[in-house]
Amino acid sequence: MTAVFKPLMPLDDAWAHLRSAVEQHVATPAGMRGTEMVSSLDALGRVLAADLVSPVDVPPLDNSAMDGYAVRAADLSLAGSSAAVALPLAQRIAAGQMGVALQAGACARIFTGAPVPDGADAVVMQEHTEAGAADGRVQFNHIVKAGQNIRLRGEDIRQGQSVLSAGLRLGPAALGVAASVGAADLSVFKRPRVAVLTTGNELVMPGQTLPAGAIYNSNRHTLRGLVEAVGAVAQDAGIVPDHLEATRAALRQAAQHADLVISSGGVSVGEEDHLRAAVEAEGGLAFWALAIKPGKPFVFGWLRRDDGSRALYMGLPGNPVASFMTYLLLVRPVLGVLAGEAWSLPQSIQLPADFTWPKADKRREFVRARLTPEGRVQIYPNQGSGVLTSAAWADGVVDLAPGMTVQPGDMVSYVPMRELLQPAFATSQGEGAGS
Ligand code: AMP
Ligand code: MG
Repeated sequence: MTAVFKPLMPLDDAWAHLRSAVEQHVATPAGMRGTEMVSSLDALGRVLAADLVSPVDVPPLDNSAMDGYAVRAADLSLAGSSAAVALPLAQRIAAGQMGVALQAGACARIFTGAPVPDGADAVVMQEHTEAGAADGRVQFNHIVKAGQNIRLRGEDIRQGQSVLSAGLRLGPAALGVAASVGAADLSVFKRPRVAVLTTGNELVMPGQTLPAGAIYNSNRHTLRGLVEAVGAVAQDAGIVPDHLEATRAALRQAAQHADLVISSGGVSVGEEDHLRAAVEAEGGLAFWALAIKPGKPFVFGWLRRDDGSRALYMGLPGNPVASFMTYLLLVRPVLGVLAGEAWSLPQSIQLPADFTWPKADKRREFVRARLTPEGRVQIYPNQGSGVLTSAAWADGVVDLAPGMTVQPGDMVSYVPMRELLQPAFATSQGEGAGS
């Protein structure tokens, strides 16, 4: 086994290494992300593979923003601002209908979303009118400016405009934009396939009786959930006993049809820890052991497939919280690139602490936390790496620099769980997107 006293790699170095490794991997033929067409109705959470260019203007025609009357603004202002004007009602235009050209000196009943007829240049909201006079005229009590209450053709999207960019994770609003330009099908990247294996002779599955010395396998559930939560396909590769040959066989098999193989446990320095030796035999080790807490024994490498191509490999520690945290910090950004997104890391926000952290660690530490109603950061009382209830309770983590202590009121870096976990639906990258 390798020497135990190697220096631990800082997390920033590990991220840089992972980024270049996964970006190189997706540039190889075997790592290249395939695409498929899916119905835009079923594309939530998928990653767009090609820019979506609008074939139409949205809205397609000038239309009314109000229920009211379409007029020529000049016809109302002729009488001055005080006197009311009455105009004959020439036509009625509901949403979905096309009117005819509006003659000077007349008005048209119009409803929200209905096309504004040629000749009209404003809509007066019905609350500013009085209809039902005996002569069929409509009385206008307010003047309007030209353009008022009209939604202009193309004011949302112009024909030929790129509205959604390749690499965007499609959220509900983006799907609505795709539909608004008439896209029935979208070209998206295939979901990455992630093989998940858990290691340990002590593991039994829920539903089985628990022999003395055994524990229930919780990582199998947590890791599958984490993989599915970010829109990837989880392939369950089962439980592997603490045995070198069995571990090698399990890795070899898992690598054949997965883009990424992740395992939990067996990455430390004990005699029962076989993952590093197995990965070296079945592929290669890129780095091992990080200066983070929890999660120190994390392993990164690759596995050979029978056809000579490679799958990526990430070995997570067995301790349930360490497994959970290393997935969020290290697996998730890699999976984003495998899914077709650009590399991105979770962002923190500065918030006041509602806790004391008296004992600094040499490693960068990630502490399970959530926010009080006042927006202060509180932490779970037991931060042990086996205390999985802390992860279920948390809505984020505090990112503590090496050697850092905290007093109540100090500003700390809080990383919300949505930053760590959720696919970033947030921003459309199309032209004209705001700041
Ligand atoms: P290891 O990294 O294999 O030395 O495991 C570290 C600790 O995590 C030990 O206490 C294991 O029993 C525990 N552990 C490992 N794998 C799992 C798992 N799948 N579910 C729950 N606990 C686990
Ligand atoms: Mg173990």
